[in-house]
Amino acid sequence: MNRLHQHAPISRSALAEMTGLNKTTVSSLVQELITHQFVREVGLNTTGAGRPAMLLEFNPNAGCIISAEIEVGFISVICANFTTEIIWRSKEVTAPGADYQEVLQQLFELLNQAVAAAQSAGIPVLGLALGVPGLVDRDTDTLLFGPNLRWENVPLGAILRRQFNLPIFVDNNANMAALGEFYFGAAQHYNDIVYISIGVGIGGGIIQGGQLLTGVTGFAGEVGHMTVLPDGELCNCGNRGCWETLVSNRALLKRIQAQLSKGRPSLLTKIVNGSSDTLNLADIQQAARANDALTLEILQEIGCYLGVGVASLVNNFNPELVVLGGINESLGEVLLPALKTELYRRALRWNTEATQVVLAQHGSDACVIGGMALIYQAILAQPSIITTT
Ligand SMILES: [Zn+2]
Repeated sequence: MNRLHQHAPISRSALAEMTGLNKTTVSSLVQELITHQFVREVGLNTTGAGRPAMLLEFNPNAGCIISAEIEVGFISVICANFTTEIIWRSKEVTAPGADYQEVLQQLFELLNQAVAAAQSAGIPVLGLALGVPGLVDRDTDTLLFGPNLRWENVPLGAILRRQFNLPIFVDNNANMAALGEFYFGAAQHYNDIVYISIGVGIGGGIIQGGQLLTGVTGFAGEVGHMTVLPDGELCNCGNRGCWETLVSNRALLKRIQAQLSKGRPSLLTKIVNGSSDTLNLADIQQAARANDALTLEILQEIGCYLGVGVASLVNNFNPELVVLGGINESLGEVLLPALKTELYRRALRWNTEATQVVLAQHGSDACVIGGMALIYQAILAQPSIITTT
């Protein structure tokens, strides 16, 4: 389905060649997908030599996928058709310090709007995916621990199933984002990927040999909680000196605020009208675009600390590609050179020789795009489990 998505319209024999699967296997998989109307035949390819081959593509109206992300401070929801074209989307801020019931109520309202959008397009909903920043028990779809949301043991899957009669998938948002970039974004032609999302915290999703690394209980990839400074700042996870205390959005804001309160001259003083408490990422972006010296200096510091962590990850996982997501592209472009300098200085050169570092193609949408991948995977594993007929 991944190859079909990337190369449609495509013939069965070309799919066999690309995937390395034998033609009989491809034919029977395709037949099953055609039976369930996920895939359709769109005519013969008469170009080239040899017998004309029947071309295949996804049926855009096979169904809609609804995908949502809850992060600290916002909820994002999309509804996409089966060719991953987004037909409806919404992003709302959540109140600071809101408890999980309030946030879920807000989520339900957005999900209901997404379902209504699918209904008015006349397309059935195939499934609903939700990404959250924390440890998700994959057997029960429970968020066990979301340090930055300050949520513990929230049975998200069960709560969603009471509200929506749909197949429900819940996962860590960075895992979902890694899948999003792997299936539909910057990492499409790579099999060994380290995905890092920069938000209020730092999340990670690791794909090895084309498969998401889950660990024994599904919690692998919590890269934000690698200890970088043994006696560093207290992290929301309870440990001290975690990587995310040095490089997250929160760390960026704090570092700049500390400099402003020392009286360092900066364009930001004017942007925030003298009150650095209200400083936000949009302000920092504006200052970075205007080449404000303090802003660029702090972004480079953050980029450098990012590189310290990425060097360890590259030494550990030997990826072809490191994808940096969650951040705005203009900030990412300032962080990237400092990150790379530090990475190539610290990691073993035999490991970095094969490694590229890029920004995510889907930016802050990577997680919701990844929700589509989760549902595709479920369909491929068992087409009859989710059926449009
Ligand atoms: Zn931590």
